[in-house]
Amino acid sequence: MNEKAAFGTKAIHAGQEPDPTTGAIMTPIYQTSTYVQERPGKHKGYAYARGKNPTRSALENCIAALENAQHGLCFSSGQGASDAIIKMLRPGDEVIATNDLYGGSYRMFTKIFEPFGIKFNFVNMYDASNIKNYINANTKMLWVETPTNPTMQIIDIKACAEIAKASSLILVVDNTFASPYLQNPLALGADIVMHSVTKYLGGHSDVVMGAICTNNKEYYDQLAFIHNSCGATPGPMDSFLVLRGIKTLHVRMDRHCSNGKAIAAYLRAHPKVDKVYWPGFPDHPNHDIAKAQMKDFGGMISFTLKGASVEETFDMASRVKVFSLAESLGGVESLLNHPATMTHASIPKEEREKVGVTDTLIRLSVGIEDIHDLIADLEQAIG
Ligand SMILES: *Cc1c(COP(=O)(O)O)cnc(C)c1O
Repeated sequence: MNEKAAFGTKAIHAGQEPDPTTGAIMTPIYQTSTYVQERPGKHKGYAYARGKNPTRSALENCIAALENAQHGLCFSSGQGASDAIIKMLRPGDEVIATNDLYGGSYRMFTKIFEPFGIKFNFVNMYDASNIKNYINANTKMLWVETPTNPTMQIIDIKACAEIAKASSLILVVDNTFASPYLQNPLALGADIVMHSVTKYLGGHSDVVMGAICTNNKEYYDQLAFIHNSCGATPGPMDSFLVLRGIKTLHVRMDRHCSNGKAIAAYLRAHPKVDKVYWPGFPDHPNHDIAKAQMKDFGGMISFTLKGASVEETFDMASRVKVFSLAESLGGVESLLNHPATMTHASIPKEEREKVGVTDTLIRLSVGIEDIHDLIADLEQAIG
């Protein structure tokens, strides 16, 4: 495939060749743990499947192509990928992370890595220059999530990259919410991009997986070493499912975006709806940055109901019929989530509330069903 192929062509073909033995157009599921060697050490690049598996290699090359990256690694979950990135650091090192962060990242940073002596500063990055106030001689990494989960803050990746470069920090961007179709952080100056592949890349709510892409060979070598040494590697069946899922990523994302736009407008006009968080609104505080660094605004929206109690919010959340009340996001089916008790339950209440994750906030992952059915469902649920 031509290196310069456009996104939709890469989504379908990158990293994949017809199977050399049969011509099968789909990459086989190499369900094997080991590979036979001719003489000790003489093999075709595959020795043991924790280190390498051909189905996984095809997927790693495909995801890397979508991020315009030289190198890709797939992990058994998004958390496995983040874990490997933090393991590049040493006791005494400090990380500056976005304050509105995926709950599982916050939990891993504070409960797993802080006891090993790595310090995390959770910082409001709405104005990226605020990051500078937290940099000291021990700071090694800048961890950015944008759009943020669940309050849809937009963080200026280019500005973060300039700050990171000036202080020799590794800039990591969790690109899960945007997917490589809407945003390519490496092109904006990030050093490492991380994905929960479970979400838009997989796209069908049937796989848990993570990925890392980078153009920095030194970081790649470190990460590949951690990947093989610590072993959070995905199996071939899951790799196959994601290769298949990615073939429609661009088509799915277009629909997620158009459905998201329609629902954001519907919610904002609804007399019973109070706040609506969606980066596509022209009065969103960082709308211009979203426009500059994203291709479109995605299908993630959060909102609150006017004057509703927690009980009333729960009643509404329990009435949906086309949406499903569930954790996760990015699948073809629409999901409704209550962050305070579900995805963000691991963040202390006072920390959550500082960034707007109140007990009455509802998050939607708008799927690709017919928009009329989605709006009718919200209409009957909100009442
Ligand atoms: C889900 C998610 C993760 C964690 O990924 P898993 O695949 O669930 O381990 C990390 N970051 C963001 C933004 C997520 O939504």
